Amino acid sequence: MHRGNKSQARSGKSSRPPGLSGREIGMYYKNLARQRKNSDTKNEPKIKLSCDVTVPPGVIMRVNEYMDQFKLAREAGQKHFDENFQQQFRHMLNVNFEAFIEETKKQNKDLNLQNRSLDAHLQDKQKERLQNADFRARFEDRLKLPTMRHATDVIDAVDKNQVVLIVGSTGCGKTTQVPQLLLDDCIEKGIGTTCRIVCTQPRRISAITVAERVSYERAEPLGHSVGYQIRLESRKPRERASITYCTTGVLLQQLQSDPLLHNVSVLLLDEIHERSIETDMLMALLKIILPHRPSLKVILMSATVREEDFCNYFNRCPMLRIEGVMHPVEVLYLEDVLAMTGYQFDCGNNKRSQPRLDQSEHRNMIEPYIRQVRSRYDNNVLEQLRVPHSEGCEDIDFIANLIYYICNKKSDGAILVFMPGLNKISQLHSTLKNPRSPLGQRWRDHLLIFPLHSMLPSAEQQSVFKRAPNGKRKVIISTIIAETSVTIDDVVYVINTGRTKVTDYDIETNIQSLEECWVTHANTQQRKGRAGRVQPGVCYNLFSRAREALMSEVPTPEILRCKLETIILSLKVLHIDDTYAMFQTMIDAPAQRTVSTAINLLKRIEALDINGNLTPLGMHLAKLPIDPQVGKMILISALFRCLDPITSVAAALSYKNPFYTPLGQERRVDEAKRRMAQKMYSDHLMIHNTICNYRESVGEHRDRDFCYNNFLSHTTLQQLERMKSQFAEFLCNYKFLTSSNCLDQSSNINSDKIPLIRAIIGGGLYPNMAHLRKARQVKNRVRAIHNMTTDDGRRVNFHPSSVNSGETGFDSNYFVYYQRQKSTDLYLLDATMVFPMALIIFGDGVDSGVIDNRHYLSVAKTYYFKCSPETVSVVLNLRSNLGLLLLEKALHPAPIEENSDASKLIKAIELLLSIDDKMGDDYEIMSDEIDNI
Ligand code: ADP
Ligand code: MG
Repeated sequence: MHRGNKSQARSGKSSRPPGLSGREIGMYYKNLARQRKNSDTKNEPKIKLSCDVTVPPGVIMRVNEYMDQFKLAREAGQKHFDENFQQQFRHMLNVNFEAFIEETKKQNKDLNLQNRSLDAHLQDKQKERLQNADFRARFEDRLKLPTMRHATDVIDAVDKNQVVLIVGSTGCGKTTQVPQLLLDDCIEKGIGTTCRIVCTQPRRISAITVAERVSYERAEPLGHSVGYQIRLESRKPRERASITYCTTGVLLQQLQSDPLLHNVSVLLLDEIHERSIETDMLMALLKIILPHRPSLKVILMSATVREEDFCNYFNRCPMLRIEGVMHPVEVLYLEDVLAMTGYQFDCGNNKRSQPRLDQSEHRNMIEPYIRQVRSRYDNNVLEQLRVPHSEGCEDIDFIANLIYYICNKKSDGAILVFMPGLNKISQLHSTLKNPRSPLGQRWRDHLLIFPLHSMLPSAEQQSVFKRAPNGKRKVIISTIIAETSVTIDDVVYVINTGRTKVTDYDIETNIQSLEECWVTHANTQQRKGRAGRVQPGVCYNLFSRAREALMSEVPTPEILRCKLETIILSLKVLHIDDTYAMFQTMIDAPAQRTVSTAINLLKRIEALDINGNLTPLGMHLAKLPIDPQVGKMILISALFRCLDPITSVAAALSYKNPFYTPLGQERRVDEAKRRMAQKMYSDHLMIHNTICNYRESVGEHRDRDFCYNNFLSHTTLQQLERMKSQFAEFLCNYKFLTSSNCLDQSSNINSDKIPLIRAIIGGGLYPNMAHLRKARQVKNRVRAIHNMTTDDGRRVNFHPSSVNSGETGFDSNYFVYYQRQKSTDLYLLDATMVFPMALIIFGDGVDSGVIDNRHYLSVAKTYYFKCSPETVSVVLNLRSNLGLLLLEKALHPAPIEENSDASKLIKAIELLLSIDDKMGDDYEIMSDEIDNI
């Protein structure tokens, strides 16, 4: 009604609604005035000027001198153009999807890969292999798998159809056998060289273990007929007559250069029931590709979860069902486990950790159920069910106790425990290794414990498959990974905590988070199946039947709960411009708003132009196998020649932090991190310092001690170094670097200039910014109190594991971060302090203006910095030059030569950044805003 009034009031002079009495007229105008006032303040946000960023006149003069010397045009004449990229890029802009497809078809028209002499050779080898004792023994074992019993069905179905869906219970041999069946069939028919099989896996670890398994079955080393390819790591098999297990992401990357998959004869999409964003997207792409590639065979493989959805999606393609041999599995629920073990929860100190909301939710669920089953369970069990932390994996001792119970009462067989994530896995691991109870001490040496998760170093992956020696019991503590993608044969007992970690995306806050939640019926069904592989088994669900009744049927597809930047870039590179339309063709389409939010971010980091077309920068970012923000950071570091520190940051952001935290040692880990941080107020620079110190320790052969003393994972550090080299290789391939060595001197001329490094981290993580208004140290507390907001106005805090969480004396009040996490509070998981000038130089939406007679420069309409008019003009000039330089470099990739004209711009930037050190004094200015701290 208000809105109606307003429009009337604006449309004409005397638009007061007719028929109002005297008092009503007065009220009408009063309301109108109030509305106007409100809408005025809404349209023009109150600008609060922050600290002064005025550049001293002397510095401005020198910056201007440098900029005069920076003449892009002059440099262009001497430059060595990268013709290849130029061409590619022109192409990008001019070619639409259909034309692109036609063109690759034409290029591959005469592709004939068959090599008859090689075919004959392969045939002979195949016959020879039958004499190999290892091969034959292993072949005998393979014959026991249900898939091998369907061998001819599989080969026939693939022969007669372009798309086949194979559905089979987990462990029946789909992943390991189907590719081998098809390859060996081709080889035997003497057309081996026409065959190149690619099988996608949802996770790196499954690509590796499966490839290793299959080459073992074939009695050959990895890299002959079988290999794997995962992001930044590969053991490729021979070109033809081969099977490559790769991650789904790797295949998506390959589509960029080979969109119709001319290089592949059979494509297997495995584990599509998991509904990862990549397999969903690949299926949508395949629908486009298939008509153009009649000879390409596609096999979809799924566990028995809503398989009809896939069959329908591919126009009711033929479905082959492979029934596994399943032994019966007895299923017990929390109430049964409690009755059986008589376990009592400790309600003294654990209770307070439960949020009140959870407690009442739990009560509402459990009380009606207790009334229902009162007659069947004794009172003690019912009392225990009432304890909120009885379900799931809140009480690690309960799980340990159940493991001891199985050891004590049940016959031989491995125990598989499903945990939500690494953290809980290590808690249970250390409880079992260092038991406090006499019961635990009794069983400790009897257990052979294996953690199983996606971060497991390759070297430790295979041991989990080995059978335990007599007198020992194998306990595997795993994430969801053992649910379908990794099969361990000798499991007889499954403990299902019912918890898992799931990414969740909140469009309102634009936060993607990884949260623990209850699994679905589909997960529970799969987990139960893991117990009946070799003999009848038992599945212990650590939740009640009441909880199970509340669980959803199947997990929500990933595409509906994550950010879309990366996937949009990869669509754009494939010339699919209308990403909205493309998403509509997928099994489940994400919300329009999620798509537009992602497109906006890509525009802000200039990967897309204002029309949503790929920019030269965007094209490079799409090729880098990392998050676009991190990708931009390493590209700039290559240009600005500070490669080593920035690739350290990028590697840690895209892989993982090298620190681990043993339970109860949090404080000592924090100390180690603080030592490494060297008061730089940056979690990112801290990682680089750590890597430098690690290298030093390697040089002095004391790296083991170094890692041990500082809670560092040796393997993670090595992996980070490997990733850094691979980034350098990428950048070198694309000509942004002249050397593929991260430590190459010419790539690191500016690597010790901390203000510059800080600014580049800022430029990369932008627009993830936060502003600290006040920091206060509290007596006797390690952590300081921070009054801080992110650019969307939300209150945040440094996560306790951030090196900034205990600090107060920052030199600047601005921070950039990579990830926010919402738990009890909103946290910045990692943060680097940056100076305002860095945001002004590297941010987008930089604007200038005058308010109350004071000039300002603003960033993203969020932060307004006072400054002199001369500063405004020099900074804006510098920004437009930097824009030109970046475009230039994206079009003609090359590092910026020392002493070249372009290097003068870097000098100018450095100069501007170097004066920042003196700008730490806006606490006073802002103090009037500080409210409820
Ligand atoms: P599916 O894909 O149908 O779930 P797989 O092909 O992955 O089944 O596994 C088939 C069988 O191969 C498993 O039941 C297991 O016995 C065996 N297997 C698979 N990987 C390994 C491995 N790395 N080590 C030992 N055995 C394995
Ligand atoms: Mg499989």
